[in-house]
Amino acid sequence: DSAVPPDRLGDYLRAFENLLTEHHLSGLPYGHFGDGCVHIRLDFTLDADPGRAAFRRFLTEAADLVAAHGGSLSGEHGDGRARSELLTRMYSAAALRVMAEVKAIFDPAGVLNPGIVTAPRPVDADLRGVGSAGALAEFGREVQRCTGVGTCRADRTDVGGVMCPSYLATRDEKDSTRGRSRVLQELVDGRLVQGWRSPEVRDSLDLCLSCKACAAECPTGVDMATYKSQVLDEAWRGRFRPPSHYALGWLPTWARVAARTPRLANAVLGSPLAGPGKRLAGVDPRRDLPPLAGQSFRAWFTARPRPPDGEPVLLWVDTFTDLFTPQVGRAAVKVLERAGYAVRIPDRPQCCGLTWISTGQREHARKILRRSISDLAGAMSTGTPVVGLEPSCVGVLRGDVADLLDADAARTGAAVLTLAELLTGAGHALPDLTGVRAVAQPHCHHHAVMGWDTDARLLREAGAQITRVGGCCGLAGNFGAERGHHDVSVAIAEHALLPAVRRDPGAVVLTDGFSCRTQLRQLGHRDGIHLAELLAAQPL
Ligand code: SF4
Ligand code: SF4
Repeated sequence: DSAVPPDRLGDYLRAFENLLTEHHLSGLPYGHFGDGCVHIRLDFTLDADPGRAAFRRFLTEAADLVAAHGGSLSGEHGDGRARSELLTRMYSAAALRVMAEVKAIFDPAGVLNPGIVTAPRPVDADLRGVGSAGALAEFGREVQRCTGVGTCRADRTDVGGVMCPSYLATRDEKDSTRGRSRVLQELVDGRLVQGWRSPEVRDSLDLCLSCKACAAECPTGVDMATYKSQVLDEAWRGRFRPPSHYALGWLPTWARVAARTPRLANAVLGSPLAGPGKRLAGVDPRRDLPPLAGQSFRAWFTARPRPPDGEPVLLWVDTFTDLFTPQVGRAAVKVLERAGYAVRIPDRPQCCGLTWISTGQREHARKILRRSISDLAGAMSTGTPVVGLEPSCVGVLRGDVADLLDADAARTGAAVLTLAELLTGAGHALPDLTGVRAVAQPHCHHHAVMGWDTDARLLREAGAQITRVGGCCGLAGNFGAERGHHDVSVAIAEHALLPAVRRDPGAVVLTDGFSCRTQLRQLGHRDGIHLAELLAAQPL
């Protein structure tokens, strides 16, 4: 936070860069250069020497440097414990003595801000490092990323931002990315918050939707969805978990069992048995569980006549497309075949394991992902492109695999494409969408991991008129269905999605995510469609 007269900024920055080099440090200066004010973030190992000594040495020389350029150690923030000891570099002993005398008149007992400005504590006296061992050490490095500036408290939904939907719904600091980071930092410190299962940790993470928006939008890359998954894993490993972890966390497994007799399963879900069932499963009574399709996508695909020849493409069929919305898969096949592809599907059912990840059952998620990635690796080794339809699954393959499995698996997962990426990348002719007016709700994982710009470009080039909705739909997989989350889930949907669709009752609502479509149907009484369905419905 140094500042120098603006006409000396160039000299100062050059000298500062030399100082960084001498101390084997690197960082990117930023700030308000018109006012001569400079910020920079530098990493020191503060747990122990030599990191602490290096910190002190650098800070002292940096103070001398800014003073030599006629500047101030603190351009726009306070001196605090971080700089007060170094004020001797800027002020004469006489000036500091006068400051101390003035302070003593108003605060003779020295109770106001002790250790700061007058009678300062050494700059390295109150450093707090991560200082933990085991699982907490790595976790601690991650959660210290938050610098507390508070971008996560800003409402950027009108420009397509998503972070942080829970805070925008409750306006409570504890439900912001920053509030959660603070609690997790205290968990790592261990003095105020103790243990993965502490009530403070549980309360701060309870309303996190695991939407991943912070991973994309927080300037320092705080990734609360991953931290929440890790915390739940540590907190519940080897214990009896909350009912929703078994019911919703294992939903793909239960859905596959129920899909053997879909009519019977749907009848049970619509019967008086559903109420007690939801109670047992930790599901909010106001939530309806989506019905299973009469025929799965895989059953339809394998029963169809031999597909036309063409360039091979592997369609990665997720559980939700397969069992709940096979019409999305059928539309994708039509679009891909029209583009000249010969569509294949994996030999066995696939899953990305997201419901296990978000409920902190990471070992099981790894098992599922290893299996899926090995199936994909076979296809990719022959150069066959792989395309996924459910954005949250593509997001796991492109993002979480790197966190959960090894580098080879991460490379395989990273190559999975969205439908828009495949179609625009290969330069295929697109259907004419002139006259189509669509309200588009990008899935929050699509926004955070893959980015939605390719979809926007495809739609624009095809002639569609798009209103892009920011924010999260509020359902976010298991979150909105869990008991205790319904009101916040509704408030989030009311923040951007529902007002946007109400404003344009005649528009197509484009929602690639199964969660978003479910939320829209249940709360907005409108049916959203997948990009594949929009494209398949138009002639080339
Ligand atoms: S979580 Fe990210 S955006 Fe929020 S205060 Fe911390 S660094 Fe800033
Ligand atoms: S994952 Fe989403 S809800 Fe959770 S802290 Fe990040 S932005 Fe907020």
